[in-house]
Amino acid sequence: MASESPPGASGAVAGAGANVAAALIGRFQKICGTEHVITHPHDLHAYRSDGLTHFQVMPAVAVLPNSAEEVQAVVRACHAARVPWVARGAGSGLSGGALPVADGVLLVLTRMNRILEVDLDNHLVVVEPGVTNTAVSAAVGPHFFYPPDPSSQTVCTIGGNVAENSGGAHCFKYGFTTNYVLGLDVVLTDGEMVTLGGHGEVDVPGYDLLGAFVGSEGTLGVATRITLRVIPTPEHTRTLVAFFGSVVAASAATSAVVAAGLTPCAIEMMDALSIAASEQMAHAGWPAEAGAALLVEFDGTLADCEAGFAELKAICVDTGSTQIRVARTAAERSVFWKMRKSAFPAAGRISGRYYVQDGVIPRTRLPEVMARVEELGAEHGLKVANVFHAGDGNLHPMVCYAGPDEAARAEKVATLILQACLDAGGSITGEHGVGVDKKGYMPRMFDEPDLAAFQKLRCAFDPDGLANPGKVMPTPRLCGEVPGPNRVHPLEAAGLAERF
Ligand SMILES: Cc1cc2nc3c(=O)[nH]c(=O)nc-3n(C[C@H](O)[C@H](O)[C@H](O)COP(=O)(O)OP(=O)(O)OC[C@H]3O[C@@H](n4cnc5c(N)ncnc54)[C@H](O)[C@@H]3O)c2cc1C
Repeated sequence: MASESPPGASGAVAGAGANVAAALIGRFQKICGTEHVITHPHDLHAYRSDGLTHFQVMPAVAVLPNSAEEVQAVVRACHAARVPWVARGAGSGLSGGALPVADGVLLVLTRMNRILEVDLDNHLVVVEPGVTNTAVSAAVGPHFFYPPDPSSQTVCTIGGNVAENSGGAHCFKYGFTTNYVLGLDVVLTDGEMVTLGGHGEVDVPGYDLLGAFVGSEGTLGVATRITLRVIPTPEHTRTLVAFFGSVVAASAATSAVVAAGLTPCAIEMMDALSIAASEQMAHAGWPAEAGAALLVEFDGTLADCEAGFAELKAICVDTGSTQIRVARTAAERSVFWKMRKSAFPAAGRISGRYYVQDGVIPRTRLPEVMARVEELGAEHGLKVANVFHAGDGNLHPMVCYAGPDEAARAEKVATLILQACLDAGGSITGEHGVGVDKKGYMPRMFDEPDLAAFQKLRCAFDPDGLANPGKVMPTPRLCGEVPGPNRVHPLEAAGLAERF
């Protein structure tokens, strides 16, 4: 998680607003109970940012509903009062997606954490949005599992995963959240409840609004009931870690594995800095002199695993691996994964502050782009730790910095890394979303007609611009061709538009 920047370092910090009328707060208290409506600044402090603490805004109020009906009533009240709101799951997002709007309402969904139905005959599970990612696999295990596995999986919610179309280590083989969401109940911004998609039994005709909602970052409504596909747990798993002299060498190995047509379920990379940081948490005893580690896993039948494993080892040797360790027991495998999954939090052990970036490149360009990342860090005198989904070409450089003076430099390096991804034919985000952090990059990827098409969709769901305003799109665009007195964006009305 990005560590905390001092207010004003180079992110946005805003104070709590006072425009949410007492009457509206009273309405929320009636709907959710007084103890679930938070207005005291001390208590609101915990909600002022998501995992990207670079940006901080105090909401006017945080409301914690306990049912779809309560969500509906809260959203309806906001609509009637024309007050903007932001949905929030666990707040583990890394792009400022759940950053509150000052003078707005934060709709926190963590109390809605019930598993509603487990239907293994149909490979389905139905959950509320506040259920954590790991709780889904726990509910259907040991014979089934839910494949998308963000490293934050013990805390992040399925609602947040849906809104971000989250990925994880095993998405190389299994795909992303969007490949597992079958149906959603969604509270629209006027408080109406709609069902998108189905319950998995039948193909649903009509426009694919479910597809549009997944990855929409809380801008189209609130998901209150989520039907997910789960799949049978593979019979066998084989895991190894191959060490290389450098990230560039490990990148070449990754490209070779993909080019050979192998389909491991995960190909994850850690550089020397990440290994050093994670070692302090996982104590795996990985070689301190290694320049990079490639964690690769196969699953399926024993024969498939063994065949893939043999070819993989040969590729690693051919591409210069200095050492290969195979997990011989489940405990060893779990230590390997602990090294990988603790890399973000462990980065706090090597740097007080860091800026996490999330970009994508074609896998064949890994060696050259990773060399460029190294170069950029050196040019600007900052360390960059790397831990990422190498198989997906999804980079997560963590630009380390020491204090306010270096914050702007760190942000610059992060921006240049993203530009390098775009120059290599990649994308500005692989899984963390656009949020507030990257909306300024949208015009670098999309031209004006593309952005206008996005905006038309957004306005169709949210004509008043109340749902997570100021996120995803580069500016607070207005719904409708010409802004008029009846079409003033709520952020503009509150004099806050310039913040976004
Ligand atoms: C240590 C660490 C590791 C991580 N690893 C990964 C990883 O491997 N892969 C990955 O993809 N991400 C990763 N992330 C990022 C983050 O965990 C994911 O984006 C996650 O899906 C966010 O879930 P959340 O519940 O915390 O959502 P939040 O951060 O609370 O919200 C995220 C977005 O979802 C919206 N939202 C939340 N709930 C709803 C709802 N019910 N309806 C509509 N919109 C909603 C919010 O408005 C916001 O835009 C990591 C984060 C950390 C801190």
